[in-house]
Parts: sequence; C-alpha cells; structure tokens
Amino acid sequence: MERRIIPPPADWKATTTAFAWCPYCGRAVNFVMDNRLNIARCERCGISENDFYVRQFNRIWRESELNSFLKKVKRRGKTNQ
Ligand SMILES: [Zn+2]
Repeated sequence: MERRIIPPPADWKATTTAFAWCPYCGRAVNFVMDNRLNIARCERCGISENDFYVRQFNRIWRESELNSFLKKVKRRGKTNQ
C-alpha cells in the first residue's frame, strides 16, 4: 500500500517543541512517546520518528538530533497508552 507523502509548506521550520510535521497527516501534529519501544509517534496516525519522511521534513538525521527531539516529546509527558 502506498501512502501519499505531503511535504510541509515552504516556510515550515523544524520546531523546538514536540510538534512536528507529519507527512502522512499533512499537518503539524503532536508526537507522543511509545514507552514500549522508546520511540515517538504521531498522535493521529501513529507513524514513528523512524520513518524516512518524518526524519527528512523534521531534519532528524543525527543521533543527537533524534535524542533532542525525543527529549522534547518526553518533556511533554504524554504517552499513547
Ligand atoms: Zn500522522
């Protein structure tokens, strides 16, 4: 099954909060922690930060960028459980 990728608007900036661009929802969404796998997921569709396009649009490439993103999500304290 092919999912449609929706890129962010040109003025979208990778953000300093747990808010991130979800290329599958086509909008900025909250990411929440999946404590079982220790990954962050889109609150709406459940895609994780491991997804290529999620990383591309939110500029999460390096380990340090991923860690700081996860820290922001964790700080919000919400989980999907
Ligand atoms: Zn989504």
